Amino acid sequence: MESLCPGEGHRCGQFGFRIWRGSQVLVGMNGSEASSKPHLNSPRKVSRRITLARLAAALGSGVGLFLYGHAPRFWNQMLEEMSAEILAPARWPDPRKWPDKGLFAAWLGHTTVLLKIDGFTILTDPVLGPKIGIGLGPVTVGFKRLVHPAVPFERLPHVDLVLLSHAHMDHFDIPSLRRLENSKSDVITAYRTSDLLRTNRYRSVHELRWGDRTRIGPVLCAAFEVKHWGARLRNDHYRGYNGYMLEAGRYRVMFAGDTALTTRLRALKSSKPIDLAIMPIGAYNPYIRNHCSPEQAWKMGNEVGAIHFLPVHHQTFRLSREPRMEPIERFLAVARSEDDRIPVRAIGHEFGVV
Ligand SMILES: [Zn+2]
Ligand SMILES: [Zn+2]
Repeated sequence: MESLCPGEGHRCGQFGFRIWRGSQVLVGMNGSEASSKPHLNSPRKVSRRITLARLAAALGSGVGLFLYGHAPRFWNQMLEEMSAEILAPARWPDPRKWPDKGLFAAWLGHTTVLLKIDGFTILTDPVLGPKIGIGLGPVTVGFKRLVHPAVPFERLPHVDLVLLSHAHMDHFDIPSLRRLENSKSDVITAYRTSDLLRTNRYRSVHELRWGDRTRIGPVLCAAFEVKHWGARLRNDHYRGYNGYMLEAGRYRVMFAGDTALTTRLRALKSSKPIDLAIMPIGAYNPYIRNHCSPEQAWKMGNEVGAIHFLPVHHQTFRLSREPRMEPIERFLAVARSEDDRIPVRAIGHEFGVV
């Protein structure tokens, strides 16, 4: 059984938990700054701290000041990212041109993938805004994206099904979900996460537990267990976290959500191969207990019979310590001569089979 204790959270790269992790580390750091490391109190550092404090105060919230007091490392990163330019994706796909027969996919960034299976559109873990994190009034305190979404909202086709793996803020982005609200869209999400949605704004919202399955239009969707955890904040350990197997017509697509290395996926292997495996490959350093490495993602995908891979959870946000391009470089390296099974390598790349 997956542990959902806060300790699991501390080791993950998700926004909410980095704060808590930061608070643990930085309580100690602040103490040493004052006593044994006087050089850290240089004028530059002091002025930076004053800037950060003003920024926190400007948020007009005790929460902002709390975060500043407990996680200066986080605030330093936020300040750096604020001044960085958001990069353009490698390509700007136009999914409206995809035919109504066949399986098509485009990586929009992080874990957001637009799928079209025989004319039916699915959007996984939609995160399309400039930032992820906690909304404090009009401001979002969190991580800025490094690359624009490859398909902005204005050019998204109608989404038939929104597929949500779990409630972490880099997967379950409230502003994006608000914009997708539509009486002609259905939502599948993990157990005890629908309270975060305005459920009456969609045609239907289905919570699935591991082993549950439901049919939406032509798609049979089955939830399976991954090795991760579901708490969005510190204490809501009751929330579920899923991977999904999608079957529609001739096609099988696996969306693994967020997972560490596990043998739980092996049960998904069948006589019918998986046409496309959407596998997370980033945020493993130092969070390997909750996020698989590129090599582990390759191994798990092969164990379940994946033909093609669409690697996600990298290049889009700086959630962990590995260099931004390291996950995809390692993923291509482990594939060796079979790297043609990885048709999607950069944000905006597309995949299609008919
Ligand atoms: Zn997660
Ligand atoms: Zn994640």
